[in-house]
Amino acid sequence: MVDFRRLEDVDTAQKRVLVRVDFNVPLDGDGRISDDTRLRAAIPTIKALQASGARTILLSHFGRPDGKFDPAASLATLATPLSKLLETPVLFAPDCIGPQTRAIVDTLAQGGVLLLENTRFHPGETHTKDGQKGYDPAFAQALADLGDIFIHDAFSVAHRAQASTTGVGLALPAYAGLAMERELDHLSMALDVPKHPVMGLVGGAKVSTKIDLLNNLTTKLDYLAIGGGMANTFLAALGHEVGASLCEHGLKNTALEILDNAKIANCEILLPVDVVVATDFKAHAPHRVCALDELKDGEMILDAGPKTVTRLLDAIDRCQTLIWNGPLGAFELPPFDTATIEVARYASRRVKAHGLIAVAGGGDTVAALNHARAADGFSFISTAGGAFLQWTEGKSLPGIEILKKSD
Ligand code: AMP
Repeated sequence: MVDFRRLEDVDTAQKRVLVRVDFNVPLDGDGRISDDTRLRAAIPTIKALQASGARTILLSHFGRPDGKFDPAASLATLATPLSKLLETPVLFAPDCIGPQTRAIVDTLAQGGVLLLENTRFHPGETHTKDGQKGYDPAFAQALADLGDIFIHDAFSVAHRAQASTTGVGLALPAYAGLAMERELDHLSMALDVPKHPVMGLVGGAKVSTKIDLLNNLTTKLDYLAIGGGMANTFLAALGHEVGASLCEHGLKNTALEILDNAKIANCEILLPVDVVVATDFKAHAPHRVCALDELKDGEMILDAGPKTVTRLLDAIDRCQTLIWNGPLGAFELPPFDTATIEVARYASRRVKAHGLIAVAGGGDTVAALNHARAADGFSFISTAGGAFLQWTEGKSLPGIEILKKSD
């Protein structure tokens, strides 16, 4: 369990509190916010700070402006939508450092909220002075000078060591915000101190992007179901015929090593026992269910078959915790979304009826579970991509390290 400093551990009254949020919201063609989930995620922490009489200063990146001002990447447009959600005025500073910003911070009243301009307008956010990836400590210090306390509330950027995340977090007393806390508590519950038996379900396109993740999960889980395109690599490594399927034949030894590691760690691997195949990679392509090794010329595996789904549902029945990353098939192309939909809906029903703890995240997982209309039934869905994967790989995240209790 990660033992980290939380908002409740600090008295923020009258303090200048720098809060790292992730306001990197998607925009539509007209520059309007198409999904305000990220703004909403920050509201509980901001409200708690307002209630405590803190002076809240919000820091965020937006887009990739490459270290210079770009009007299209200005956070100015977010002040009004944020103000509406908070039902309180939100001030805006046209730079995130400098004397003018300092002057605005100095006028900020208790309970006041100030949004600073995009941190990525400064090269020091993401690069050292000599242009290496990292951050410029002088820029981090200039940000830190604006506050007394740092609250990290953006798990989605916790895997990055940048000025407005790690840099400020090292310069000021750092605490997790309420969204970060929720994320860390759920991820810990699924992976660090889970109720056993625990099952992992890892799907998606390729093994090559998830080798560390698979190896780490085999050390922690009782069952690991492998699906999607990556299952083909395992099936081929075991000598099965996968025809024209997506498959990384060059990773045979890696796949066999992962299977060996799982055996040593007593983690049962569940691979497909039947598959849905088609000759065209497109929605509603003519298809059939077949056993392994019964593929005909030109056929490719695009989904798990019904026997496999039944096996997965049985395994879920035996488990108290489920951690899910990646679809079980080419879910964007119906009917090759069938296994993903059936298993996702079943898991969400087990959450409600049997108290299963089901946590999901990373990459296409959120889209797949939304597509299955099962996301609401999960105990927790992480919308963080890279940070979720890095956590699941068992690697430390610089944005979390700064929050850990040292005593
Ligand atoms: P990832 O980003 O690694 O989670 O991969 C997600 C992608 O894998 C989705 O776009 C799926 O369509 C794709 N995928 C899953 N299963 C298969 C499969 N059997 N063949 C081809 N693509 C697949």
